[in-house]
Amino acid sequence: MFLKDRTALVTGSTSGIGLACARALAAEGATVILTGFGNPDDIEKERRALSELSGTEALFIPADVSRPEDNTALVHEITDRLGGADIVIANAGIQHVAPISTFPAEQWDRILAVNLSSPFHLMQAALPLMTAKGWGRFIATASVHSVIASPFKSAYVVAKHGLAGLVKTAALETAGSGITINAISPGYVWTPLVENQIPDTMKTRGMTREQVLSDVLLAAQPSGQFVTVEQIAALALFLCREEAAQITGSNYMMDGGYTAR
Ligand code: NAD
Repeated sequence: MFLKDRTALVTGSTSGIGLACARALAAEGATVILTGFGNPDDIEKERRALSELSGTEALFIPADVSRPEDNTALVHEITDRLGGADIVIANAGIQHVAPISTFPAEQWDRILAVNLSSPFHLMQAALPLMTAKGWGRFIATASVHSVIASPFKSAYVVAKHGLAGLVKTAALETAGSGITINAISPGYVWTPLVENQIPDTMKTRGMTREQVLSDVLLAAQPSGQFVTVEQIAALALFLCREEAAQITGSNYMMDGGYTAR
């Protein structure tokens, strides 16, 4: 229970990677703040389970992180109710698959708002208090697309490359203050985000569902396997440890060898 006196905000924690991170943090005693979209009954069930796991009251605070003011309000509410967020995992993310020539402009704006601007606004709101306390962990869920491109994912690739740059810049600005700022970059993880992009990928590439799974997703990873949400959560947890206090400005690939090619 090494996080017993810590509070942890995880955006996009109603599903996939964020939910696994919330569970891992709660299992180490952190008071977890959930946010994201989903069925209210399922979220409440999860919130209660997390409270039991950590022994402290987990919170759910609704927010649409594509809106700058929701990010700020989220951090301010945590500060008012719990004295601040010691750990922030900026994880909410969305994706859209289409060629640049027909990429919907509103999707471009929304993908950049959720995947890139939200972490920026969360940093602006959360870093001053972390600095005052002399301890903080900020982890951004990036992607292999923070270092390599992929056709038909322009907005996502741009947002994740930008996020990697934001993490490095913020790490330099906070180095030595007790705060570390890092990115975790997964390859393919079987979550709703990946599942939901299959129909558009089938259309864009003229493939069957099976071909997308084997020739696009699993073929990209030399391991031939999906990364699991628990594996990503374990890395996030490690970055919260004192042993990781000198790791800042890093961007960890967890991708079955995807980017090693
Ligand atoms: P997911 O779809 O399971 O979860 C996304 C979460 O973000 C959900 O909780 C959703 O409610 C929340 N969310 C989306 N838009 C939001 C908004 N405007 N405001 C508030 N919450 C919002 O997806 P996931 O695969 O768990 O993705 C988590 C992160 O991991 C994302 O940043 C994604 O880009 C990144 N990632 C995923 C993969 C993968 O293969 N699944 C690979 C690399 C990176």
